[in-house]
Amino acid sequence: MRSTMQETPLSIATLVRYGTSVHGSSEVVTWTGEGARSATYAEVGRRAARLAHALRALGVRGDDRVGTFMWNNQEHLEAYLAVPAMGAVLHPLNIRLFPDQLAFIADHGGDKVVLVDGSVLPLLAKVLGQLPQVQHVVVNGPADLSVLEGTSATVHAYEDLLDGQPDEFDWVDPDDETDAAAMCYTSGTTGNPKGVAYSHRSIYLHSMQVCMSDGFAMGQRDRVLLIVPMFHVLAWGTPYAAMMSGASLVMPDRFLTPEPLADLIETAKPTLAGGVPTVWTALLAYLDQTPRDMSSLRDVVVGGSACPRSLMEGLERHGVHVTHAWGMTETSPLGSISREPGGVEGEDAWRYRITQGRLAASVQARLVGPDGSVVPRDGTAVGELEVRGPWITGSYVRDDDPAKFDDGWLRTGDVGSITPDGFLTLTDRSKDVIKSGGEWISSVALENALMAHPAVAEASVVGVPDEKWGERPLATVVRREGTEVGADELRAFLAVRVAQWQLPERWSFVDEVPKTSVGKFDKKVIRRQYADGALDVQTLP
Ligand code: AMP
Repeated sequence: MRSTMQETPLSIATLVRYGTSVHGSSEVVTWTGEGARSATYAEVGRRAARLAHALRALGVRGDDRVGTFMWNNQEHLEAYLAVPAMGAVLHPLNIRLFPDQLAFIADHGGDKVVLVDGSVLPLLAKVLGQLPQVQHVVVNGPADLSVLEGTSATVHAYEDLLDGQPDEFDWVDPDDETDAAAMCYTSGTTGNPKGVAYSHRSIYLHSMQVCMSDGFAMGQRDRVLLIVPMFHVLAWGTPYAAMMSGASLVMPDRFLTPEPLADLIETAKPTLAGGVPTVWTALLAYLDQTPRDMSSLRDVVVGGSACPRSLMEGLERHGVHVTHAWGMTETSPLGSISREPGGVEGEDAWRYRITQGRLAASVQARLVGPDGSVVPRDGTAVGELEVRGPWITGSYVRDDDPAKFDDGWLRTGDVGSITPDGFLTLTDRSKDVIKSGGEWISSVALENALMAHPAVAEASVVGVPDEKWGERPLATVVRREGTEVGADELRAFLAVRVAQWQLPERWSFVDEVPKTSVGKFDKKVIRRQYADGALDVQTLP
């Protein structure tokens, strides 16, 4: 029997219409370095309409991809609304990527137009020569346009483009709610980054989860500080959840260091925030020296890598409650979030709060042991976490990767246990990429670059704990016989091949890199050697 319900598609257009009208007086606040500028959602809706008209005039049709290369700011929000709600596909590009990766992603994504903040235009300019499909570059804010000399793309100023365009746009509901609305790339352990295309439906349903009281509990009274970059998993879906709930948004733009963040918090008084542990670790160190007024914040959601209890307790000394959550680019990202059950207090509550959290209702999960069998959810047995659900990716953009899927389940690469009441604890990750300051560093990319040096016989790179960045790379190198290459020279060699922030500080020269039975570098052994102090490690400043 068919239901009698209407089949209205779930769409970004619905969220934009609703958020910019019903919640037209909510606002987006953007930090300028000296103060805050703000606009109401009604204004943002009008500007998004103008942007959509301007993009149409530039030839954006159907599911054309529109890239953004921007910080968290009002104009980026306008793109978040306009692009999917006009039927095109939003593609936020990671500002922190090394040029080759950036070029790969923008090319693979097929971006036709790129919106870019003037402050990061030089970074984009470096790769435009490799992106012949980019027809238009739209520059937001002051910029040195001379860096674009020689580019074949037409260059526009963001405000000029919006000028004179109509304030309303007939937002487009997709024929099929499973059509792509936006995409983000994830960095793989090996090979090229992989594209995840989010659908109108997945974003809509995920937004509902974010708003739920056992999600981020986001509502119209909230002011949400968006520290997580808008190029990382669609800023955890927060901008769309804000349109759905009417929560205001507080954007730090490029001012992500502790002092301006504290200024922004005192000025804009956010109630809720989300970000990776490293940002909060830095803020905590600053607050411990310079107490500031954090009292507006009722909750901070921390995820992206494991949130240590010491960080939660530290922030709570300043009156900021922390909620731990787990997710991935492939999971939109909200997979689990840690709120202790009602009535549980004190030390008992910590048992729940330090876990990666309770699985969301729409996220089905199972743990798979090394032999491929499903292990019990008894809180003890450990296996690789596999998930499926309406906002979990079922494939990658133009990239079959059957090894990432198991009979319809996404293999997360994360290893841990689940209690019978659905709390997930991650004990390890099967991936070997290094997470530094919330961003991945590919150990394989570093190894490949190192092994291109004529004096290097073998090189392995693993992540080791670092107080400031969470993790940093340790390079373990076997010199070719008869050569005397040192750490300084190798780092200089890498410096022209990888992004500056990926360069290892820690170096160890060894006779042999430990190997597994099938001849792969055995990184677990290297990590253990490092932890045991068994490696002779030189640390460069
Ligand atoms: P990304 O796709 O860059 O967001 O990275 C996703 C990965 O980050 C996951 O597969 C985990 O390995 C890791 N991760 C995310 N959240 C957590 C968390 N709360 N604890 C531990 N690892 C996490």
